[in-house]
Amino acid sequence: MKPAIVWDTVITGHFKKQDVRNKIVYIPINIPVGITAFNMQAIITDSANNVLDIGLFDEKEIDLGPINGFRGWAGGVSSKQVRITKEEATPSYIPGLINEGLWNVMLVPTSIKKEGFNWQLNVSLEKTGNVLKDFIAKPSREWINNKQEWYRGDLHMHDVNSDGVFTQAELVKLSKAAGLQFIISTNHNTNSANLNWGKYDDNSILILNGEEITPFQENHWNAIGINADTWIDWRYDAASGLIDKYQEQVRKAGGLCVINHPFYNNDSIVDYRFPVEGFDAIEVWNGTWDINDEYAVDWWNNMLKKGLVKTAIGASDFHRHDGKNVLAHPQTVIYSKGLNRSGIINGIKNGKCYIAENTNLSMGLSVSSLRSKLSAKIGDTLSVRKKGRLLVNCEITGILDSSTVSLISNKGIEHIFNNVSGEAVLKYRISSKKLQYLRMEVRKANLSMQALTNPIWIREIRVL
Ligand SMILES: [Zn+2]
Ligand SMILES: [Zn+2]
Repeated sequence: MKPAIVWDTVITGHFKKQDVRNKIVYIPINIPVGITAFNMQAIITDSANNVLDIGLFDEKEIDLGPINGFRGWAGGVSSKQVRITKEEATPSYIPGLINEGLWNVMLVPTSIKKEGFNWQLNVSLEKTGNVLKDFIAKPSREWINNKQEWYRGDLHMHDVNSDGVFTQAELVKLSKAAGLQFIISTNHNTNSANLNWGKYDDNSILILNGEEITPFQENHWNAIGINADTWIDWRYDAASGLIDKYQEQVRKAGGLCVINHPFYNNDSIVDYRFPVEGFDAIEVWNGTWDINDEYAVDWWNNMLKKGLVKTAIGASDFHRHDGKNVLAHPQTVIYSKGLNRSGIINGIKNGKCYIAENTNLSMGLSVSSLRSKLSAKIGDTLSVRKKGRLLVNCEITGILDSSTVSLISNKGIEHIFNNVSGEAVLKYRISSKKLQYLRMEVRKANLSMQALTNPIWIREIRVL
């Protein structure tokens, strides 16, 4: 039976330049009884190169989350034609009943290039005689094996559920082809993809749920490893003091909080505005290595010096094939008790990981006490007696020609191995005096990063 439009409307408005990342407009839509499809489209009517984000809350709730009225968000994609029924929804949106009551469309200008723009919102409601099935969420599997080893993953990627160009099925195919064993899906401000990953996974790839929380200002952060049905609100800024509440929500949902690309572009080279204390990890390397990643590694290293322990991770922030963001470049390689959700998340939490530019590169770092013979690996702590001698062992494969391998501690660069290529086993002896941590970087001949480890921690013990 042909669906019947029972109600439609066109609403118009204007955003000023100062509204960018500052203003949310809610447009209430009264839904009568018996509606089976909700359609909407937001259009910028008078200028190009601007971005209008759009979201939707149903009759349940609109207040700051955690809430259960969230029905979707299309960040970075203006003019997307949205359709929601109880059976299915346009990517970025959550299927379900179109219940009677007051719904709210949310409009947010996230980029205005000139003096502002005019917008138009089209909404139509339908009744159809067709019998629709209930939507049943199919989250991905959380466990593949308990084999303790290193696993390669991309921790930050987008698909058509936000501003990526590939479908979920295509992203899985591309990730497998890139040699990854796990991926973390992080669409902007929506969990819609997470409800469907079980349709696309199999035992050759672990897919973990995440969300890139994209609040006002440039303070992006990732919730990774969360439950599929968890949605993290983003409608607050650093000055609100609300971030703690959402970090707690992430942890309760089994996940970790990651600061994303803290130095995002050359216009906003400022320290991250949210307090760093509540984050578990920092994305020190986002996409192809550039000066902003250099700043981020330096920022992280200064935290380590102060004893602020955060795991360094790297990820592609993949949206499409372009020069800046190539899938799996870089990737984070994690020592996990198995290819499963809790193992991977604990590995990241405990800093048992390194970042590699690509799948060809693998490395190991260990520090052992010459006296006690105790040994520690990446993320571990080595207990040593005062003024002990330590042996550092670096094992790396896949090194590009004429690279340098640096050992870096809280005191600065301890040693540089020059002209390293291919496969290498490098050893170095070092005093434990005032040594708090030791980490390794592999850099190319042009000094750009090829790989870096998280630190091994050194703790001095007193022997009576
Ligand atoms: Zn981001
Ligand atoms: Zn992103």
